[in-house]
Amino acid sequence: MSTQDTTRRDLLKAGLAAAGGIAISPSPEAFAQGGGSAAVVTGRRFRGWVSRGNGPGRTTLQDLTLRAISGRQVVVRTEATNLCYSNVGAVLGLQPNIGPPPGPPSGTSPANAPRPAAPPAPAGGFGRLNQMALIQGHGGVGVVEAVGPEVRRVQVGDRVCVSGTPQCGACYQCLRGRADMCQFLGRQGPDDLVPIADMSDGTPVYANSHIGGLAEKMVTFEEWVVPIFTKATAAELGMVCSCVSVAGLGGTTSQNTALVEPGSIVAVVGCGPLGLSAVQGARISGASTIIAIDPIRARREVAMKVGATHVLDPNAEGNGLVEKVRELSSGPNNRLWAGGRDSGGLLGGAGADFVLEAVGADAVAPKLEAGPDPTGILPLRQAYEMTAAGGHIVTTSLPRGIFSLPAVMFTIGGRTHHAGQAGGCNPMRDIPRFVELLDKGQYNAKALATRVVPLERMLEAYEEVAYRTTVTAIMTA
Ligand SMILES: [Zn+2]
Ligand SMILES: [Zn+2]
Repeated sequence: MSTQDTTRRDLLKAGLAAAGGIAISPSPEAFAQGGGSAAVVTGRRFRGWVSRGNGPGRTTLQDLTLRAISGRQVVVRTEATNLCYSNVGAVLGLQPNIGPPPGPPSGTSPANAPRPAAPPAPAGGFGRLNQMALIQGHGGVGVVEAVGPEVRRVQVGDRVCVSGTPQCGACYQCLRGRADMCQFLGRQGPDDLVPIADMSDGTPVYANSHIGGLAEKMVTFEEWVVPIFTKATAAELGMVCSCVSVAGLGGTTSQNTALVEPGSIVAVVGCGPLGLSAVQGARISGASTIIAIDPIRARREVAMKVGATHVLDPNAEGNGLVEKVRELSSGPNNRLWAGGRDSGGLLGGAGADFVLEAVGADAVAPKLEAGPDPTGILPLRQAYEMTAAGGHIVTTSLPRGIFSLPAVMFTIGGRTHHAGQAGGCNPMRDIPRFVELLDKGQYNAKALATRVVPLERMLEAYEEVAYRTTVTAIMTA
């Protein structure tokens, strides 16, 4: 009966209102409190690097006072944080180096050559984010100091990875098996962030990405923490649990993307900490040939140390880079009746079985060897082209501009493209596995963490990351 239905709907609505509503789009308060539990008062003092405003000098070390936490919030005493290249602009306030590539991509006529697009204008709200006092950093490791009353995943005293990729376990993406796309990841705008501390003048301070790793304490939510049980050193743990290592290992060993088959031929394009983690993931997975490609000699040397069987300099190879990879991956025989690979072409057999692309755009011109294209588009295209017909390509980078391919290669060329976040990994399942690889000596973190600095020297280490004079840097707190 309709009157009864209406009454039931009214009752349901009244019930939801009494419970505080369903937080489909939570207000900051609802997001923080997750149901209105009693606050856990901490009031502890700590130091943190706070970014605000524009230009160099926007990041300064401040004495801060922790705010009360509640609901699903977690306070972590920071042990180590990786200085991720993607944060260079936000931390150092440098102007991006937006130059066109030196020439058209291979196989494209100059008339049709795609030009790099200008960087997108900041989305609504991000200008405001720039004016908020924000602790940068989007990951770290440490020890849990306090938990809100609704936290179940971790306990005080636990060692945790504060993952750049959250995993709620309940959203559509988590339920369909793509935790790398957990929808909490998109809840990082100015209206989603909650103040976690105050500066001495009373200015509220927020944590970038609900993490804010560049401080002695991180205040995050349960969705971002992964408990890890290990005695590894802070610096090595900070490396293997960083966004970049997780993406490199995830891209090569996670079941969400293609798995590297034992005995297969892998190419890794770009050997920063992400690519060098992918080289290791390929080695761990049993690849027989691992071709590492990077313009910086020091990075190619590290690649050889951690598992690459061949290294290539894209500047020296020029337009012949793709052909060179096909040559190296043509196998011992080219007889089609004997399982051989022929020399290439659109549907040829040569090419890498598995390619991981990890180049991306330059935030600022490097002081070591610059690559052939500061936008990262050319190496992305080369990575696609060097993938064998029937092979897999996993892309992980942050390039700048428009990407185009010969359409026929895209439609019937047999390459399978896996686009994911964090290499497609599943944080709660995969990060403990990556820590195990470190503990058992299968993952070499020291070779990647070429600079380890205390909190006070964070800025100078970030300069080295920005100019690519170190593979990466770890800040210990
Ligand atoms: Zn990152
Ligand atoms: Zn989720």
